Amino acid sequence: MSLEFIVKSQKLNKRYGETIALKNVDIAIKRGSIYGLVGNNGAGKTTFLKIISGLTAADSGTFSLLGADNAAGYRSVRKRTGAIIENPGFYPKMTAKQNLEYYRIQRGIPGKETVDELLYLVGLEHAAKKKFASLSLGMKQRLGIALALMGEPELLILDEPINGLDPMGIIEIRKLLLKLNQEKNVTILISSHILTELENVATDYGFLNKGELVEEVAAEKLKEKCRTFLEVKVTDAAAYAALLETELLCSNYKVLPGNCIHILEHVDRVSDYSALAVKHDIGLLAFEMKEINLENYYMNLIGAENQTSDAQE
Ligand code: ATP
Repeated sequence: MSLEFIVKSQKLNKRYGETIALKNVDIAIKRGSIYGLVGNNGAGKTTFLKIISGLTAADSGTFSLLGADNAAGYRSVRKRTGAIIENPGFYPKMTAKQNLEYYRIQRGIPGKETVDELLYLVGLEHAAKKKFASLSLGMKQRLGIALALMGEPELLILDEPINGLDPMGIIEIRKLLLKLNQEKNVTILISSHILTELENVATDYGFLNKGELVEEVAAEKLKEKCRTFLEVKVTDAAAYAALLETELLCSNYKVLPGNCIHILEHVDRVSDYSALAVKHDIGLLAFEMKEINLENYYMNLIGAENQTSDAQE
């Protein structure tokens, strides 16, 4: 089994009664990556994280976790993972530090300095003496991450840690995740129902829709797919496309139905593209700069899937 993947699932299935929570899900998470698991409410994200974390069992299918692929193996590697899936039970009247200290003792983790180091790592050293109840939501989330980091895990599993945070809180969590990944080599599996929240953080994405993995893609590839293009509508797309190649040496374009062409390169050469049509007496019907951003890419993906499948059937 390849250790290049810290988690690799094959054909995972899970039902709750009539509800299909996961359907033949194959997910491969590379060691060292920040894997964004994205999907609407009810898409199956938490179910996947729970299976990997041992909080529930799959009905069928297999997965490997840090090289282990059976119950005894999972038990021994789980101490090398940390997770926040359901809200950790913090005591509201105890301080941030007392709460972590409580869990350190309960888990038998040696070293009183551990808690201070964790508070520092998540940027809560100044809030150590604040009562949990008085912390902002972002601070509470970071305290949860500190708890998940106790025991120095190689894999951190976070279920919607950004949910409900204000923009500042989102930035702080992003910075923390990048620091953990880059400085501590922690592989991170993070779920979100808002794709753009994971932008600039995730190195890889898995898109879940109604229990099915609709796409798994590296962030770099996704960036290539999400970009600005020129939409040109002309009276004769075939003739215009030929001229694009011969006169402007442009080869990166797509001809679509309705005499519509998407030009994907040198989009700044707007005047050249319009002059080309004028010069050859081709009618220019529309000319518009457009952008595929992450969010509408995802909506298109989910929308397309919704027309072809229905996991709740
Ligand atoms: P959310 O963002 O809302 O948490 P999710 O993507 O994490 O959604 P899951 O929580 O994995 O989705 O749920 C997938 C489906 O399984 C949903 O339809 C949900 O209602 C259902 N489900 C999850 N847990 C249970 C349960 N314990 N009993 C019954 N149905 C469940």
